[in-house]
Amino acid sequence: MDLGLKGKTAVITGASVGIGLAIAEGLAAEGVDLVLAARGAERIEAEAARIAEKYGVSAAAVAADVATVAGTEAIIAAAAEKGGADILINNAGTGSNETVMEAPDEKWQDYWDLHVMAAVRLARGIAPQMKQRGGGVILHNASICAVQPLWYEPIYNVSKSALMMFSKTLSTELIKDNIRVNCVNAGLILTPDWIKTAKQLTAETGGNWEGYLQSVANEHAASKRFGTPEELANVFVFLSSGRASYCIGSTYFVDGGMLKTI
Ligand code: NDP
Repeated sequence: MDLGLKGKTAVITGASVGIGLAIAEGLAAEGVDLVLAARGAERIEAEAARIAEKYGVSAAAVAADVATVAGTEAIIAAAAEKGGADILINNAGTGSNETVMEAPDEKWQDYWDLHVMAAVRLARGIAPQMKQRGGGVILHNASICAVQPLWYEPIYNVSKSALMMFSKTLSTELIKDNIRVNCVNAGLILTPDWIKTAKQLTAETGGNWEGYLQSVANEHAASKRFGTPEELANVFVFLSSGRASYCIGSTYFVDGGMLKTI
């Protein structure tokens, strides 16, 4: 299926590893030019250079913290330098670990800035570029935790839920400019971070990290396995394309059967 993405320009946050990197590769394989952002300069620059070489696209690296105004401004400027973006993937984010009773205000604020304000600020800066180019696509990588919370990360659950609602609200506002906004809620996706955590948690009890990950999958996902970043990236690539032209203001679950409601 030709997705018609060749020659488009995509901004992807959190693109140096894991899901964001897989989305970058998936779009590059379709001929999309990239603006890739993450905080760590070395890793994002190395991945941008590798992807540009491998797929024959242009890939700019921006070392920026999306939880700050300066960071989002740098990303918006990098997209403008390319003549504007057609696709924005708000992917940067991370899990949390706390109780409501113990977490300080500052932690709530940090996650609000990372999961919600980054998307707000990038939409404000990049949607006008899309409008000028005749339309575009904005996708939010929230989480199944936006609707089915995990007990140990209330701040993650709440801020991802807010991101999901932001996505819906933004879609209504921007469809008049031919900008389609959608949200993706993933379940368990096997990123290097999950492997690192599993290795840490099993280090003192024999090191069976694969067994630990299998037990997590058994407990949570009907499919009894993690998804790969590529399996999730495929959905982002499809939603980025004109083939998804009637997908507007929705949230798509990609969770191996983890969601327990209809
Ligand atoms: P990783 O931790 O593997 O990668 C996170 C990426 O985001 C890195 O490139 C990191 O680079 C970047 N990043 C983190 N914080 C910032 C910041 N403040 N500013 C700019 N870049 C940042 O994450 P995953 O690939 O696992 O997750 C990606 C998204 O998917 C997240 O939003 C997560 O909540 C969501 N998700 C993940 C699931 C999973 O099972 N893995 C399931 C459901 C949702 P650097 O550190 O250099 O900034």
